Amino acid sequence: MRLSKYYLPTLKEKPAHAKIISHQYSLRAGLIKQIASGIYTWLPLGLRVLKTIEDIIRDEMDKSGAIEALMPCVQPANLWRESGRYDDYGKEMLRIRDRHEEDMLFGPTHEEVATDLIRDTVRSYKDLPLCLYHIQWKFRDEVRPRYGVMRGREFLMKDAYSFDVNYEGALNSYNLMYKTYIKIFKRMGLTPIGVRADTGPIGGNLSHEFHILANTGESTLYYDNKFFELLESEDVESLKNIYAVADDMHDPKTCLVPQEQLNVSKGIEIGHIFYFGDKYSKPMKASVTSQDGKNVNMHMGSYGIGVSRLVGAIIEAFHDDKGIIWPEAVAPFRIGLINLQTKVTEAADKIYKALKSDEVLYDDTEGSIGVKFSRMDLIGLPWQIIVGKKAMNENIVEVKNRATGEVKEMQIEEAINRFSTK
Ligand code: ATP
Ligand code: MG
Repeated sequence: MRLSKYYLPTLKEKPAHAKIISHQYSLRAGLIKQIASGIYTWLPLGLRVLKTIEDIIRDEMDKSGAIEALMPCVQPANLWRESGRYDDYGKEMLRIRDRHEEDMLFGPTHEEVATDLIRDTVRSYKDLPLCLYHIQWKFRDEVRPRYGVMRGREFLMKDAYSFDVNYEGALNSYNLMYKTYIKIFKRMGLTPIGVRADTGPIGGNLSHEFHILANTGESTLYYDNKFFELLESEDVESLKNIYAVADDMHDPKTCLVPQEQLNVSKGIEIGHIFYFGDKYSKPMKASVTSQDGKNVNMHMGSYGIGVSRLVGAIIEAFHDDKGIIWPEAVAPFRIGLINLQTKVTEAADKIYKALKSDEVLYDDTEGSIGVKFSRMDLIGLPWQIIVGKKAMNENIVEVKNRATGEVKEMQIEEAINRFSTK
C-alpha cells in the first residue's frame, strides 16, 4: 500500500483527554476516531488490526469445532422478558422502540437470541454437543466509557454459546473453550492468565476470566506464580486448579498459596467464559430428549472475547515512548518501507514491487525525514526498510527491527529475499 494513496490521519500531539497509553496511541496512530462518548469509527489502519484479530479468533474457534453464525444487533425485548432479564439488566441496556411501538434493544450480549435459535430446531441429544459463535457489535451504555476502545459503549465481541445434554458434556465444552482461549491469546503474542470469576448478572456457577497483566488494568488479580510456568502445557485441569482469582473473589482466609508465591497485579479482562446450566434453557424452554428418553433442559455455556478491546490491550502490552510495537501476528502491515529522498525512488519502488503490496506500507510521500521516521515508529510496524543515500551508489538499505531497535545494512536483493513471501 502506498501511503500517498492511503488514508492515515496521524496526530503529532497527544490528545489531552486520553489518559492511558493505548488510548493516546490509537488516536495518534490513526487507528480510531471518536464520534461520541465510547463510540468510534475504525480508520483503515485500525480496521486492519481488528480484522486480523478476528481472523485469529475465527481460525481457532473453527478448529475447536465451533460453528460461525451471525445474530442480529437489534433484539426484541420479548426474548429478554422470557428469560427474566429485561427488567434486571438496568441502564446499561440501550432500549429502543420501533414504529409499531414494540420494545427493542441493542444487544449487550446474546444468550437469549442463541437460546431462541436452537430451541425450535435442536430436539435430541444426538444433535449435541453444539457450539455456535459470532463476531458482532454490542452496545452497553457504560456509566464511564473510557480508555478508548478498552471500555467503549459500542464494541466488538466474539461470543460463543454451547449446548449440551448434561453437566459432563457442558464441562467438556467449557474446558475446550478454556484451551481454545489460551491458544487464541498466545497467537496474538499475549500471555493470558485465567482467573476464577464471579458469574455476575449472566449467572451460573462456573466462570473464568482471561486477563493480561498491565498496570492500567481495571481488575486486581491474585494468583500463584505457578500459573505462567504451566501455561505452556495448556493442560486445562491443572491450570484451573492453580489459585488465581479476580477482585473480590480473593479471600485471604481460604487462600493456601504461600505469601511469597502469591502475586497481586492489575489485569485487563480480554475474555470471559461461563457455564450456567439451565439458566436460560429452563425459562425459555430449550430442551432435548436425552439418551434414556427423558425431556431435559439443555446445559449451556457462553464464551466472550473483547475483540475491539484487544486492540487497546495489545498496545498496552507492546509499546515504547515512540509508539506502538505490534506483534507480527496482528500487525496492520508487516513492513514499513521508507523512501527518504526522491533520488532513491527507483530503488524504493523496486523493493515495493518485489514484495507483496498487502504486507508493505510504503511511505512514498514528500516530507521531512524526521516526520517519516517518527510516523513509522508511531504506527509500530514490526519491520522497517529504510531507503536512503546508500541505495544510490552502493545498493544498500537499512532494515530496522521496531521491537529491538536493531538496524542492519543489507544489499537491496538481500532485503527483498529476506521479506519476500510472494
Ligand atoms: P468489564 O468487567 O470489563 O466491564 P464484563 O465482565 O462486563 O467486562 P463480559 O460480559 O464478560 O464483560 O464480556 C465479554 C468480554 O467483552 C469481556 O471480557 C471484555 O473483553 C469485553 N468487553 C466487555 N465490556 C466491554 C466494553 N465496554 N468495551 C470493550 N470491551 C468490552
Ligand atoms: Mg466479564
